[in-house]
Amino acid sequence: MSRIMKNENDKDQKHTLHTYKRSDTNEEIYKCLHPYCTHYINRDFLENKASLCPKCGEEMILTRQALKKRIPVCLQCGRSPRKKLEKTAEQVIDEILSEVNLTSEEDMEEED
Ligand SMILES: [Zn+2]
Ligand SMILES: [Zn+2]
Repeated sequence: MSRIMKNENDKDQKHTLHTYKRSDTNEEIYKCLHPYCTHYINRDFLENKASLCPKCGEEMILTRQALKKRIPVCLQCGRSPRKKLEKTAEQVIDEILSEVNLTSEEDMEEED
């Protein structure tokens, strides 16, 4: 049992990408969530750096947006970005269609 635990420790201590959580006492500081890792860093140095998503374990980039959260997660684990995109696309299409309609109506009136 102890052997297995030691092996896991050795493996985990070599992790190159940290999983970040904002410090409870200092909003400028993010620290690694891993129990055997004491790494911590100022938020300024984290922007656009790679880390591991605490939810799915996939590599992610700590964008300014992600760093607004106490525990940054990747896009997939955050809000579903697809729904947002669909909404935006619909809105854009609506705007374009209404503009086209207006223009064509005006043109028709002019021609008449
Ligand atoms: Zn770490
Ligand atoms: Zn994730």
